[in-house]
Amino acid sequence: MERTFDALVVGAGYAGAVCARQLAEQGGKRVLVLERRDHIGGNAYDCLDQAGVLIHQYGPHIFHTNDKRVFDWLSRFTPWLDYQHRVIANIPDNAGGRMTYPVPFNLTSLETAFGPKEGKRLGDKLLAEYGAEQKVTILELRQNADPEIAALADYVYEHVFVHYTMKQWGQKPEEIDPNTTARVPVFLSRDDRYFQDAFQGMPKEGYTPMFERMLDHPNITVELGQDALKRLDVSGDEIRVDGEVFDSPVIYTGQADELFGFQFGPLPYRTLDFRFETLQQDDFQGYGTVNYTVDQDYTRITEFKHLTGQKLPGVTTIVKEYSRAFTGQPGETPYYAIINPENNAKYGQYKALADKFKNLHLLGRLAEYKYYNMDAIAGRALDLAEMLLTK
Ligand code: FAD
Ligand code: UDP
Repeated sequence: MERTFDALVVGAGYAGAVCARQLAEQGGKRVLVLERRDHIGGNAYDCLDQAGVLIHQYGPHIFHTNDKRVFDWLSRFTPWLDYQHRVIANIPDNAGGRMTYPVPFNLTSLETAFGPKEGKRLGDKLLAEYGAEQKVTILELRQNADPEIAALADYVYEHVFVHYTMKQWGQKPEEIDPNTTARVPVFLSRDDRYFQDAFQGMPKEGYTPMFERMLDHPNITVELGQDALKRLDVSGDEIRVDGEVFDSPVIYTGQADELFGFQFGPLPYRTLDFRFETLQQDDFQGYGTVNYTVDQDYTRITEFKHLTGQKLPGVTTIVKEYSRAFTGQPGETPYYAIINPENNAKYGQYKALADKFKNLHLLGRLAEYKYYNMDAIAGRALDLAEMLLTK
């Protein structure tokens, strides 16, 4: 192993693929990438379904970043489709029907919910309090002492946050990491996009072709269907791969608890059940994603054609997301780390074990037990590769 490869990368998602490419290209390192699944791309993997619709197998992925370095780097492997993600909340109204308005809750949402006149008055009050184009988290807004603003905060909490968060996390907004609901703040603006990042879009031909190009390098060997934990041994003082000592860098992007045999107990995660439906119609919901913020068992419905810009008359595929606790059963995927002091401390124990090996690097959303977006992981992978190459 040591004679054939200069680095081992576990996982072919953003973390693994970006790091592998940099090591191979910038450092001339021979890199072995082991991927447990039968495809590359990690959770960003996309493919055509049976109806020919380009779907995201592991839920909707929209690329957005303010990090020009990351955007430029990825742009080497894909052209982009300019796509600005817009999400609406779909909630029951008081007349037995349904009402929709933009999420993040913004000045337009306010006028839809309270009527143009009252909505405008309340909007002006918020603008006077916080300033135009400001983002205020729901937890901050609920701290406001003004009775009218507090009542408005209660409305947004009830109609946008509490039920959705209960579905997604099994806990209320005030019980989970505040950074989570802060991802979708109340936005004092008419800008109804979900993200305001400088660079936003979708890889024009899909994520998987982007990953194919990234991993297509003479110094990179990718083995699919390979559970690295069957070959990687971290039980001793030195890392062993296929039974032999391996001193070169190991970049591990899977679960930290699994790597060390769950010896401090499993790290808690939420998983998702995705229910895909293909419908014989051009358009199902007019938007990429609709959040069901008050009722329904699922959190959101995504219609892929709106995300990908695919033109395919007479057929469309949607996915509904159902969240629940991850139990570690075969076939289940841990999608979201449940970030809180207790779980972070448990993660710290695993990280300390990893740190005993000078050549073991935990990288990525799973391995670092963090709620990272794609761009953040790509950035971290570039940083790690640079560190390894300058060491
Ligand atoms: P992963 O993509 O999970 O890749 C890890 C890889 O390692 C996997 O392929 C796994 O099979 C493999 N692996 C694990 N253990 C082993 C092993 N023992 N042996 C071999 N291989 C192994 N981010 C955004 O920026 N925008 C979005 O719109 C967005 N939407 C999302 C929607 C959902 C439902 C979810 C769950 C996440 C979303 N994300 C989004 C986050 C995005 O998925 C992650 O930031 C990104 O995929 C992390 O990349 P990664 O390489 O760290 O992990
Ligand atoms: N959230 C909510 N209502 C919404 C959208 C988001 O309560 O309509 C909260 C919820 O707790 C969710 C978090 O904000 O888990 C982050 O939302 P985001 O859309 O960023 O989640 P992701 O796309 O990562 O699942």
